[in-house]
Amino acid sequence: MTIPAEITAPRLTIAGQPCGSTEMLAVIDPSTAAPFIEVPSATLRQLDEAVAAADAAFGAWGGFPLSRRQEMIRGIRDVVLANIDELAVLVTMEQGKPLGNARGEIMASLRQIDFLGSIAMDREIIKDDDTGRVEVRREPLGVVGAISVWNYPILTALFKIVPALVAGNVVIVKPSPYTPVATLRLGELLQTVLPPGVVQVLAGADELGSALTKHPGVRKISFTGSVATGKQVMAAAAGNLTRVTLELGGNDAGIVLDDVDPAAVGAELFWAAFSNSGQVCAALKRLYVPEAKFDAICEAIAAEAATVVVGPGLQDGVKAGPIQNKPQLERVRELTADALVKGGDAFFTGEVPAGPGYWFPTTLIRGVAEDVPLVAEEQFGPVMPILRYRTLDDAIRRANDTDYGLGASVWSTDLERAAAVADRLRAGSVWVNQHPTVSPTVPFGGVKQSGIGVEGSMHGLIEYTDIKVVSVKR
Ligand code: NAD
Repeated sequence: MTIPAEITAPRLTIAGQPCGSTEMLAVIDPSTAAPFIEVPSATLRQLDEAVAAADAAFGAWGGFPLSRRQEMIRGIRDVVLANIDELAVLVTMEQGKPLGNARGEIMASLRQIDFLGSIAMDREIIKDDDTGRVEVRREPLGVVGAISVWNYPILTALFKIVPALVAGNVVIVKPSPYTPVATLRLGELLQTVLPPGVVQVLAGADELGSALTKHPGVRKISFTGSVATGKQVMAAAAGNLTRVTLELGGNDAGIVLDDVDPAAVGAELFWAAFSNSGQVCAALKRLYVPEAKFDAICEAIAAEAATVVVGPGLQDGVKAGPIQNKPQLERVRELTADALVKGGDAFFTGEVPAGPGYWFPTTLIRGVAEDVPLVAEEQFGPVMPILRYRTLDDAIRRANDTDYGLGASVWSTDLERAAAVADRLRAGSVWVNQHPTVSPTVPFGGVKQSGIGVEGSMHGLIEYTDIKVVSVKR
């Protein structure tokens, strides 16, 4: 793939028209810690204009037959595929992940269209007899605000855009101020396949997101981000009873059972935690290992860690990029330093490039107590604590002892035993011998404070609708 020498800054699109702004947002390449581009940051007035344009577009879009909408939505796949090289470079430059992973993120986003691009949304007939007919319809809501995040900028945007559009809504996307570039470019590309105002991408700071959540013209907020922000979104949405789907953080536990072969699972356990440099909502974030297998499991995970080349995502052979932004780098540094002060043993520390960039070495830590923040909180970076357990009951209790409830996993060769442990773990998804998996046909979401609602599958799709009952007396 040719990497462009110069990148043209994408523009905002309001009512189908590309436009600038009086405010600009400098975007940093995390592999250099230096700005590489400036993009327009939407003003609050432009937000109002976008909501008005979206509302105007909703009339026609929401009224189209589902098949007509789906035909245009399949056009999204075509235009994204035709421009995937450019989009992937932008994702790598702003997010930091290796180019192959950026392409993988975009391809994974498009799988939704394969599923939702031809799904049926049939009316439910509750009664149809001599006395009357009662049918349940799924009606679109109107303008949806989609607030996305910096670890998977394109995926977290398209996972909202596609189901919202299929259900008949129109969408305003607010990407993270750390990673607005590829999403703005996506917004420009979508203008070629969708009517004006159906999808508009407005980059901006957190305040723009906040204004979107309070906007009286917005009927639903689909949000991906931290628990703390999720709570603010929900509080703001309460003012207009705006619907919310909240995909929030996690502190996923994995429990290894005593029958595993460490050499067979080491690499998978490593990547469960360290994919995207640990910046995955449902990454494995703490691992519980029985006494008898503890040393062997640590060794097997470290063996895979030793193969990882950390570096700039555009460089060949790189398997992991930098941390995406400075505050997150500081947080991972603090959590790790604190764990070491509190007795942790960093038994593996990888190498990072010299020079600027938000680099943090791949780090494996053992010997820390349960209440150390590295264990008790979400790290969201390339460091994982590995903890010993004596009894399975104790491991399950510790795994569940958290306000988070996004994912969890069990690792065993005995699938029945693993299933019995899975039954006792409190999380939106429990995986056996894998962690995590996301598919357009499977619901994904958190319990407890990890979120409200799901994305993916028919369950995720109907979150972009209200129920309307039509009841006829005969
Ligand atoms: P964040 O919550 O700070 O920001 C996310 C988005 O919200 C950004 O676009 C931001 O501009 C916007 N925002 C900030 N304040 C806002 C407000 N008051 N109102 C409306 N919007 C606002 O996100 P972060 O902490 O930088 O991101 C990392 C978190 O995201 C982690 O906890 C991670 O687990 C979580 N995450 C969850 C999922 C999931 O599907 N469950 C996926 C990816 C990331």
